Amino acid sequence: MTAAPNPGRGRPVTFDQAAQDTYLTLIATGTRLGDAAAQCGIDRTTPHHLARRNTVFADRWRDAKTAGQARREKPKGPVHGRAGTYTNHACRCPPCTTAATQARANAPDRKPPPIRRLPAPHTSPAETELLMLADVS
Ligand SMILES: [Zn+2]
Repeated sequence: MTAAPNPGRGRPVTFDQAAQDTYLTLIATGTRLGDAAAQCGIDRTTPHHLARRNTVFADRWRDAKTAGQARREKPKGPVHGRAGTYTNHACRCPPCTTAATQARANAPDRKPPPIRRLPAPHTSPAETELLMLADVS
């Protein structure tokens, strides 16, 4: 039983060494995991499965993810002029205060309830006379 494995048997490897290198390069440059997997033509879960079996790949993947997160654009500071900035970032600058005031004024619980119109009274004299006759009988 020392024969070499038949190269024609089994499922072909889709995430070979070249694809792994391409994938890790994409990840290290800040590409998101799903996008990098799509660009390499693999399922997004394939690297997870490989990392469970292959600790060398798992280490390389972790380093690439760390590098990619560092390269990815940092979120900018709070955007002024929004009610959310007033509430979540406690910004009290005039644009944020104005936006928060308007948001509170437009909140559904601050709006007056809709006016319910009552049915109109009988205005026709003939109709009123008929109703009076109906009450008598
Ligand atoms: Zn502000």
